[in-house]
Amino acid sequence: MFFSLLRIIQYRGPLLRPKGKQNILMMKLALHWQIAIGMTLGALIGISLNIYGGTRTTIVQVDELPAAITSLEIHDSSNHIRIDWTTASGDKRSAIVDGTRKTPGAAATVDELRHTQPEAAAWFHQFGRSTARVVGETSQLIGNLFLRLLQMVAVPLIITSLICGITGLGDAASLGGMFLRTILYYICTSAAAITIGLVAVNIFRPGITENAAPAVQVVETAGQSLGTLLFEQVERMIPTNPIAAIANSHFLSIISFTLAFSIFAVIVGGKTLKAVRAAAEAGFEVMMAMTMAIIALAPIGVLCLMLFVTATQGPAVFASLFWYLLTVVAALLTHALIVLPLILRFVARRDPIAYAKALSPALLTAFSSASSNGTLPLTMACVENRAGVDNRISSFVLPLGATINMDGTALYEAVAVLFIGQLYYGAVLPLEQQLIVAITALLASIGAAGIPHAGLVMMIVILQAVGLPIEMQGIILAVDRVLDMFRTSVNVWSDSCGCAVVAALEQRSSKNRSVKTT
Ligand code: ASP
Repeated sequence: MFFSLLRIIQYRGPLLRPKGKQNILMMKLALHWQIAIGMTLGALIGISLNIYGGTRTTIVQVDELPAAITSLEIHDSSNHIRIDWTTASGDKRSAIVDGTRKTPGAAATVDELRHTQPEAAAWFHQFGRSTARVVGETSQLIGNLFLRLLQMVAVPLIITSLICGITGLGDAASLGGMFLRTILYYICTSAAAITIGLVAVNIFRPGITENAAPAVQVVETAGQSLGTLLFEQVERMIPTNPIAAIANSHFLSIISFTLAFSIFAVIVGGKTLKAVRAAAEAGFEVMMAMTMAIIALAPIGVLCLMLFVTATQGPAVFASLFWYLLTVVAALLTHALIVLPLILRFVARRDPIAYAKALSPALLTAFSSASSNGTLPLTMACVENRAGVDNRISSFVLPLGATINMDGTALYEAVAVLFIGQLYYGAVLPLEQQLIVAITALLASIGAAGIPHAGLVMMIVILQAVGLPIEMQGIILAVDRVLDMFRTSVNVWSDSCGCAVVAALEQRSSKNRSVKTT
C-alpha cells in the first residue's frame, strides 16, 4: 500500500527521486506481488473480523427508541439480518435481509432494504451493525473510490487507444484486402474464444453454490425476445449524439463511433490523418500514464474490497472463486493450446510448436508484464526475426492486434460476467442475456487497451449491458492479476498467430493473382 503511493510519485517526474538512488523499495516488490499481499491481507483481516465480530444481537434501550415504536431488536450475521419492532399501536413488524434469497419477501441486500423498508434500514445502520459490517462497509467506501478512478479513465482511454490503433495503419490504399483478412481473423478467433468461455462457464457453473436460490430476477428479463434485445444493442451502436454517448458513458456507442471516426480519418488521409493521429497519440500517452498511476493503487483497492467482501460474507466466498479461476484458466488453455494451433496448422500451414518456441520470449514477457502494449516491440521482433514473418504484415497486424484483438480478454470478460451473474442471481443467465454478454464481450475486448487490468475497466460495459451491479467486480478483483497474466499471453499468442495466418493468406492471394495474369 505504501509502495502504491511511492509508485505514483514516479509519474511526477524524475526530479522527485534523487539520482542514483532509484526507488529501491519499489524495485523490490513488483505490482502483482503488492496486489497479492493486499489481497491476502484484506482477506485475512476480513475473515478474522467475520469470525470474531460477524454476529451481533442488539436490543435497543427504551430511551433510545425512535418515537414511533415501542421496541426494537436487531440480529446481524453474515448473510442474514433480522429487524423486529413494535409500533406505538402495538403491531409487531419485521424486516429481513437474506443474502441466500431463500426467505420469501426478504431483501437480498441491505441496499435493497434501503429501498423497500428505508426506516428499518436506517435503524439497522444506526443501532445494529456488527463490528465486521461496520469495518467492512467503511473499507468498501475506500475500495469504491478505486473503482471510480478506473471508471474515470475508461472513456478517454478507449477513445485514444482505438484511434491510435486504427490510424496507425497508414493511408487508405494500404488498408484493402489485408485489413479485411486481418479483421476477419480477429473476429473469428475472438468469437471462438468467447464460445469456449461460454461453454466452460455453463459446464463448470463456478458461481452456483449449493445454497443458491432460484433466479427470481433473471426470469423477468427473459420475457423480452432475443430479437428485441439484440436490436437494442445494434441501436446502441448508432448513437444519435456521440457527445451525449461519451457524457453518459455509453460504451457501445463510444466504441462504434470511434471505430467509424478512425476509419474515416484514414480514408481522408494526408494532413488530417496526421493531425488526428498525433492528437490521439498524445492523449493516449497521458491516459496510459494516468491509468498506470491508478493501477498502482490497486493493492489498496484490492485490500479494501477484499476486506469488505470477506468481513460481510465470510470465508465461504472463496469456494466459488476457486472454480472461477479454474474455469477461466481451463478455457484460456483450450483456446491457446487447441484452437489457435489448429488454425496455425491448417490455415497458415505452420508447425505450432516451432512457432510457439519462436514466440516464447514475447509470450513469457506478456505473462509477467500483463501488458500486450508493453510486449509489442518484443512480439514484433520475435515474429519477424525468429518466426520469419514478413515485416509488412507484422507491422500492420501486431499493433492493430495489440489494440483490438484480445481473444484472452474477450473470453475472460464473458466468463467473469456470467460468473458474477450466477453469483448475483443464483442461477445461470438465460440464453438471451448470454448472447448479449458474448456480443458485448467482443466489443469490450476491441475497446480494451493493452495494459494491465484493462479488461477489468472494460467489464463495466458488459455488466451495464446485462444490468448487473458493477460493485460485484470487487469479488473477482482479488484474482484479476493472475488471470490477467494468462489472458495477456493468450492475447499476444493470438496476435502472433494472426500474423502467420494473414501472411499465408496474402501469399496465396498474390499467387492466385499472378497465375491469373499469366
Ligand atoms: N492486460 C491485457 C493486455 O494487455 C488486457 C486485459 O486487461 O485484459 O492484453
